[in-house]
Amino acid sequence: MDGFETARQIQSIDSATPPIIMLRSIGKSDDAFRCRDAEIVAWLLKPVRSSELLDRIREVLGAPSLQETAAEQLEPDVASALTGLRILVAEDNAVNRTMVVRLLGKHGHDVRVANNGREALVAIDEDAFDVILMDIEMPEIDGLETTRLIRERESGAGKRTPIIALTAHAMKGDEEKCLAAGMDAYVSKPIHPTTLFEVIDRVTSEPVALPS
Ligand code: MN
Repeated sequence: MDGFETARQIQSIDSATPPIIMLRSIGKSDDAFRCRDAEIVAWLLKPVRSSELLDRIREVLGAPSLQETAAEQLEPDVASALTGLRILVAEDNAVNRTMVVRLLGKHGHDVRVANNGREALVAIDEDAFDVILMDIEMPEIDGLETTRLIRERESGAGKRTPIIALTAHAMKGDEEKCLAAGMDAYVSKPIHPTTLFEVIDRVTSEPVALPS
């Protein structure tokens, strides 16, 4: 069984499989297609430099690269003055979820997590939130559909919770799709803390237009 088939079989066992990076000794013209088909998120040609490998691992896990981490540390603390917000994080990837929850917790926010869209809807029924961070690709109900359902429930109730999309693919057209589903803003992964806090500040301070 080759690496592609192995990756496919691993992915079929569990939707919460950690990201798979393929190591290859030669590149072939259909690599990109075959990787996408087997849900391999990245690949590297051997011999692999350790710094390159480390950066790629950090990238697929949604962590900033070492250069970016260094840049963040050099920046003055531009983090939000806002603290103590009640935030729902809907994200099916455990690594990303932990990273975001830790980041928000460090800034004094009160965080509830949902592992998928269904859990997010339960959380919304039970709790009120100042802002929701919503992954787009989730099992059962994805982020776009969950957002549509939340907006449906809110309509008439006279409230509108800001929703920020978290998306792995910063593709053209994604932002429009998010906004059309009723989201307010969009942050692409890997998540940069400064950007995330800026967007949270913006969506929680803007007067929100209530649905008519
Ligand atoms: Mn996801």
